[in-house]
Amino acid sequence: METTDPPQPPPPTVSDNVTGNDDIPNFYATPNHSCLPKTIPEPSVSKPHLNDISEPINESQPASEAKPELAPAADPGPPPPKKRRRRKKLFTDMISTSAGSGFRVLRPHPKPSTVYSYSETELADEPDDGKPHILHRRRGGGTGGSNSKLSDLAKEVDIEALIAISVGFPVDSLTEEEIEANVVSQIGGDEQANYIVVRNHILARWRSNVSLWLTKDHALESIRAEHKALVSSAYNFLLHHGYINFGLSPAIKEMKLKPPEGAPKANVIVIGAGLSGLVAARQLIFLGFKVVVLEGRARPGGRVRTKKMSGDKDDIVAAADLGGSVLTGINGNPLGVLARQLGVPLHKVRDICPLYLPNGRTVNSDIDSKVEVSFNKLLDRVCKLRQAMLEEVRSVDVSLGTALETFRRVYNVAEDYQERMLLDWHLANLEYANASLMSNLSMSYWDQDDPYEMGGDHCFMPGGNETFIRSLAEDLPIFYNRTVESVRYAVDGVLVHAGGQAYRGDMVLCTVPLGVLKKEMIQFVPELPQRKRDAIERLGFGLLNKVAILFPYDFWGGDIDTFGHLTDNPNTRGEFFLFYSYSSVAGGPLLVALVAGEAAIKFEMMSPVESVQRVLEILKSIFSPKGIAVPDPVQAVCTRWGQDRFSYGSYSYVAIGASGDDYDILAESVGDRVFFAGEATNKQYPATMHGAFLSGMREAANILRVAKRWSMVPAERSYSATLENEDIDELFNAPDLTFGSFSVLFDPRSTDLESNSLLRIALKVEKSGAGCLHLYGLIPRKLVIELSKVAGDLDRINMLTRDFRVKLVGKQNLCYMAESLLTFIRSSRLRALAKDFVVESTS
Ligand SMILES: Cc1cc2nc3c(=O)[nH]c(=O)nc-3n(C[C@H](O)[C@H](O)[C@H](O)COP(=O)(O)OP(=O)(O)OC[C@H]3O[C@@H](n4cnc5c(N)ncnc54)[C@H](O)[C@@H]3O)c2cc1C
Repeated sequence: METTDPPQPPPPTVSDNVTGNDDIPNFYATPNHSCLPKTIPEPSVSKPHLNDISEPINESQPASEAKPELAPAADPGPPPPKKRRRRKKLFTDMISTSAGSGFRVLRPHPKPSTVYSYSETELADEPDDGKPHILHRRRGGGTGGSNSKLSDLAKEVDIEALIAISVGFPVDSLTEEEIEANVVSQIGGDEQANYIVVRNHILARWRSNVSLWLTKDHALESIRAEHKALVSSAYNFLLHHGYINFGLSPAIKEMKLKPPEGAPKANVIVIGAGLSGLVAARQLIFLGFKVVVLEGRARPGGRVRTKKMSGDKDDIVAAADLGGSVLTGINGNPLGVLARQLGVPLHKVRDICPLYLPNGRTVNSDIDSKVEVSFNKLLDRVCKLRQAMLEEVRSVDVSLGTALETFRRVYNVAEDYQERMLLDWHLANLEYANASLMSNLSMSYWDQDDPYEMGGDHCFMPGGNETFIRSLAEDLPIFYNRTVESVRYAVDGVLVHAGGQAYRGDMVLCTVPLGVLKKEMIQFVPELPQRKRDAIERLGFGLLNKVAILFPYDFWGGDIDTFGHLTDNPNTRGEFFLFYSYSSVAGGPLLVALVAGEAAIKFEMMSPVESVQRVLEILKSIFSPKGIAVPDPVQAVCTRWGQDRFSYGSYSYVAIGASGDDYDILAESVGDRVFFAGEATNKQYPATMHGAFLSGMREAANILRVAKRWSMVPAERSYSATLENEDIDELFNAPDLTFGSFSVLFDPRSTDLESNSLLRIALKVEKSGAGCLHLYGLIPRKLVIELSKVAGDLDRINMLTRDFRVKLVGKQNLCYMAESLLTFIRSSRLRALAKDFVVESTS
């Protein structure tokens, strides 16, 4: 059955095999690269060898009430897009106007002409805005008058805005990142509007040729000179945040790994060489940091793993993506940029996805359409219900599964046997998209990332995604087989223990999967803040498994990329429910069967031989009635992502009780020392390869921002971090001296009586339950001793304030001297804890 895309103005011009010309909105023509599917007609059958992989891949209204029909007339708007893709999403009701970019194309500035520069003739009829036009905007011919030039310009501004939207920028406002980076002196107003035009222009300019390094001078060429400062601001922002000049073209690679001038800004330890870790490490090196990557596995890529499959004689080979596989939306996708830079044309995953009944017959197309429409209507009903619920009681959540099943019963959907199987197939598809059982998904927020979804085709990377990984890992200082066991952090640095060694750094970037964090495989000392631990617990991390089978030849036909299989047992609806054909891209006749939902969990208990037999039975049930013999496989591989100790699952999802905010909380850094990246830290693009990529870029920029803050305003740093304030109380849990309500911390560097001490007085607050009020003061050690000899707190306080003239302050107002004393106290305690802060062997 063929499915169609939602209407997108103007119509796409992409062929079956799209080029890497990915991020350009549809109105840019993309050359068609016809590449016939490769079939291997030789039916040589050899004994399959099976691989069970445990690294994982490792090679190895209540029904009784009136039941209204799901009336189409009652629903405004078109039905949701009909696509059998990984994500069955984008429900028009739920796209909030405030979320993300909004999808309208608005001109961000009514007068773009004040930003661009024109030639003299172009300016002849232009309304005088009183500003000098210094540089010439270069663009192709154009014979119209100034009006048409202005309208051309307006169009171009719109196009550039569209490109920026596709990359994730809002159409008429700044992102949080931009605001944090102070890209303009004032939020709102003309400066901001001009900045947006300039930013969009620079972005679009680089995206028009992603192989080249765009310099600031290039960017300045077409912008009027008085906006030089805006160009500088936008250029630096885009460069540092990895929106331009990123990737793998020779020119860019050379610039990116050039040793920075001067001393490194700081040492950063990156934990994990998956997509997010690799991207972050490259960008950090470019930004001038000294970087080391610690990876537990013996290879880079993490959940991106391409397995080279072959027969005994190596005459049939194919590259199978056992983890991340499909580039889900190519517009603005950074991986599309990488493909373009590597000169690899991407393959569009075609939307034709026939569905087969258990007896092998094709599903009747009318019933197929009917159930799909009903399924989407059920989802729309759930959307409406949750909107109403969220307005009333924000904290109530139930599972998406429960909500859908309730509506299904109320509206008598799919009561017929075949319709029920079809509905189950759609549910399995959702369970695949979310790597979770319907019963675990949050009804309220399961699709919170929909508004941000990357547009455009879903694509395969020919040869597998490892091509990206290999190139990204090249020349990086990665230490393999270094499983990180603990991360100790304090105000003056971090200490990471891995594989019998201790690594000292200024900061650590943790990119391990949420599954690893949930299992507490890494001990954080001190413990991560409660808020983060709660988010780790709330968010879900689910399971998707695959069986990749290399056949001697392509017997299923090269004109489709997907087909589905229905089952009459709802409990096994996710078992091999969808097949991906990789014949067009893997280099050989490769089929991958997906196992989702409950079946994905049970699958890990099954023997691989049994699993592959089961897949073959299904294939035979589909193809034998058509007179097509299913040959013995050449090689098969079963994944076990749930048992993989470096991920403990496949990807994140929004579980009941969680929300999109939890992704943001996972992304929060701790004490300006411990940073987090990875797909589960990306609220907009979770569970994806591009989400992982973008999170790596985000954190590199974040680390730079923090490092800059330290060197520029060190005093502010300490008092702005709540963690450090909480940390002061922790230090006072083990004071050097106490008397009455007084506690004292001495300077650990000296026993000199003139050396400073930090004193804390705990004053009981009358109001019951209000606890203690703490006041602090800096005072020489000799006065502490005198004070300790006085009896009674009242007399001590009098002596302190009247005789010694010590100013008592709250925690927030501790002076810089007190902070530096605290730094020494903390580091001496950490040293006592970790013996030494240099790289050392602990085995
Ligand atoms: C079966 C499957 C199918 C998928 N399909 C798609 C798809 O079609 N499209 C898509 O966009 N995305 C897909 N994804 C998701 C995508 O692969 C991930 O979102 C992305 O690769 C995650 O990258 P990351 O850097 O966040 O994490 P990872 O790639 O998991 O990187 C984390 C790294 O940390 C390492 N590590 C873990 N613990 C330790 C430790 N204690 N010490 C040191 N190192 C450690 C790991 O070995 C790993 O290398 C799929 C994932 C799976 C599993």
